Amino acid sequence: MSKVLVTGATGFVALHVIGQLIEKSYSVIGTVRSQAKADKLYKQFKERFGDDVDLELVIVQDIAAENAFDNLFKTHKDIGAVLHTASPFSETETDDFEKGYKQPALEGTKNVLSSIKNFAPQVKKVVVTSSMATIMNFDKLADPTFTHSEDVWNPLEWEQCQDNWLMAYVSSKILAERAAWDFVKENKVNFSLTVVNPPYIYGPQYFDEDAKGKLNTSSQIMMDLISSSPDDSHLFNEHVMVSTDVRDVAAFHLIPLEREGVEGHRLLPIAENFSSQKILNLINEQFPELRGKIGKGDPAGESTIQGVTWNNDETIKLVGGYDFIPLKKQVYDSVKQVLDARNS
Ligand code: NAP
Repeated sequence: MSKVLVTGATGFVALHVIGQLIEKSYSVIGTVRSQAKADKLYKQFKERFGDDVDLELVIVQDIAAENAFDNLFKTHKDIGAVLHTASPFSETETDDFEKGYKQPALEGTKNVLSSIKNFAPQVKKVVVTSSMATIMNFDKLADPTFTHSEDVWNPLEWEQCQDNWLMAYVSSKILAERAAWDFVKENKVNFSLTVVNPPYIYGPQYFDEDAKGKLNTSSQIMMDLISSSPDDSHLFNEHVMVSTDVRDVAAFHLIPLEREGVEGHRLLPIAENFSSQKILNLINEQFPELRGKIGKGDPAGESTIQGVTWNNDETIKLVGGYDFIPLKKQVYDSVKQVLDARNS
């Protein structure tokens, strides 16, 4: 079996992708930003899969740097598929959003695709991790007549995002995904492109030890709720969105490697709608030991929150049906892992 390259191997999503690839006996190359990160990751995977784990880690310090992937593709002629997950998704210390989000997302995507075109004609499949944020129309989130589906594009422009890091992130994802589709339209390439557009991703960290301390951005949103005050009785409607479990998102990255007919499409893996209040209700219901120690908000108010309207029938048809891990289990597995890590 040819090798699969996964960019951004240290990421929340990428670790599950790599784990699932190894379980299915793929040879994997992951890119990381430093030798220290490579050493830590390699040790973790060796502990999980044994000394002969089929994983190599290569350093690509900055995906935005010119020709960032050229050496990798020049020296690894056995890569047959590329899963490009790397992209910054955390609040940067600088307010230089161009450098913090736009360049790594956009140039990183263009760099990997042009290196494949120039140096890796043997690569047949490319999967780019985009986001449902490239579909979401923020003015229509509470409009039940507006359906978010695979053929919808978020109209947000980069110029509208100068004072909010999250909007800059969203815009960077729109630019990157558009650039990927344009690249395959404008260039003669040997590979097919499939894009995965996940909404908010919850679920456990791949390695339990990584559940200690600050988590990746989406997981941290859930964990912030277990730090809420027991006196807090407002309706928790800060986040009203759509979620999918990280294990399902990872599985969607493997589908294009194994199934014909998904190439050239956006895949929209969605489990269900959520609000912060719905998550808080599920935490209080499933963790009696936390009741009275964390907020309960306004449990009944949850049913009054207007959720996002979406339809992913096309995706489900393309992948031949799929049972998503429900929010209740996403919440249980995420919170349990963090509580266990804190108590260990
Ligand atoms: P994450 O845990 O923050 O992982 C991001 C990965 O990208 C890390 O490996 C990071 O390396 C790497 N990276 C960032 N900037 C880089 C640069 N300039 N050069 C090289 N590597 C760089 O995020 P995640 O949640 O797994 O997200 C993975 C992908 O899913 C991203 O494309 C994100 O946009 C997309 N996504 C995530 C969510 C979600 O809710 N989590 C939802 C929709 C889409 P370091 O670890 O060294 O920083």
